[in-house]
Amino acid sequence: MEILKTILSVTGIATILTVLIIVAEKFLNNYGECKIDINEGEKELTVEGGSSLLSSLASNKIFIPSACGGKATCGLCKIQVIDGAGPLLPTEEPFLTPDEVKNGVRLSCLVKIKKDIKISIPEELFNIKEYNATVSRITDMTHDIKEFRFDFDEDEDIKFKAGQYMQIETKPYGKIKEKAIRAYSISSVPSDSNGVELIIRRVPGGLCTTYMHEHINKGNRVRITGPYGDFYRRDDSNQYIFMAGGSGMAPIKSIIMDIIEKGLDKEMFFFFGAVGVRDLYHTDFFRGLEKEYPKFKYIPALSNAVPEDNWKGETGLVTDVMKKYIDTGNGKHAYLCGSPGMINACVKVLTFMDFKEELIYYDKF
Ligand SMILES: Cc1cc2nc3c(=O)[nH]c(=O)nc-3n(C[C@H](O)[C@H](O)[C@H](O)COP(=O)(O)OP(=O)(O)OC[C@H]3O[C@@H](n4cnc5c(N)ncnc54)[C@H](O)[C@@H]3O)c2cc1C
Repeated sequence: MEILKTILSVTGIATILTVLIIVAEKFLNNYGECKIDINEGEKELTVEGGSSLLSSLASNKIFIPSACGGKATCGLCKIQVIDGAGPLLPTEEPFLTPDEVKNGVRLSCLVKIKKDIKISIPEELFNIKEYNATVSRITDMTHDIKEFRFDFDEDEDIKFKAGQYMQIETKPYGKIKEKAIRAYSISSVPSDSNGVELIIRRVPGGLCTTYMHEHINKGNRVRITGPYGDFYRRDDSNQYIFMAGGSGMAPIKSIIMDIIEKGLDKEMFFFFGAVGVRDLYHTDFFRGLEKEYPKFKYIPALSNAVPEDNWKGETGLVTDVMKKYIDTGNGKHAYLCGSPGMINACVKVLTFMDFKEELIYYDKF
């Protein structure tokens, strides 16, 4: 009985304190209406103070890249604040270069709107839209990779550059009560504008990938925003080297298909690194492209083929295999996508082979 009384009184005190904190938050931190001035008067928003700059902009349909969904872990939601953001927070500092700090760049997920604020954002961010999409196809690619097709509603179209990414919002599922937002590169071509295709690798215990692999079915509706990112093809080279691993194939597939579809006369090598045969996918698709476009070459390389794989192709690290086909980086562009370890190794080898650092483009994830 005594224990029960103690539990009840502790719970009661905790509940009262929580209510007091919520009431205090509401009345003491009541910032009222605040104005957000964008690009020196180009747009002005009136928002309720107290929320983050990132979420206030999103609720006005201005979407800033944020692969972690505002959790201050990805560092992508940088915005130049001209005035009204308050002092820089220690939690922002690790994500900002000294130049960015000098120019007033801030993490918009950590800037709380407490008064009128002036910001500057690049024009292309106004092109980012919210789409309510229907899952129209789910294809098993490997033991841990699925490809998804999302169809937009009839009147919705997307304009993007091959290589860019979208952000998916998950809904609560199972024991997971909160929503999550994650970034996924578009694997389809820009000309296919009434939807997007994404290639998603399952991360064990991952919030979004478990949702996508286990809780999403054909016909489900998904909220998706985009396009985001500056990983896209620059037009000024005739020779491209592409290197990818796992789901990193997604943006590379989009870029290669876009080049071919536009009839551009480019020499292209695509090196795809995988562990074993079970990690290869879209092989027939790329072999088909090789036959149709003699200037395109697809070279999958297995780092750990087992005898049962009966593999006759290239083996070893994708960087070593690439060196067998490419003698110098002079005049060539490289586009890489995969894990941070793979990208770092590729950049090291490519710069050693005289690829210009500024002509090596990549997305790490
Ligand atoms: C610009 C960009 C583009 C991306 N494009 C793609 C894409 O096309 N396809 C794709 O599959 N993913 C892509 N990602 C990664 C994706 O956004 C998620 O980070 C990933 O799917 C994991 O999300 P999750 O919610 O399942 O895992 P979380 O719940 O975020 O993480 C669960 C655990 O797994 C770890 N973890 C997180 N990510 C990885 C990883 N990639 N490998 C191993 N462990 C990890 C975390 O540290 C954590 O411990 C991209 C990321 C960025 C930034």
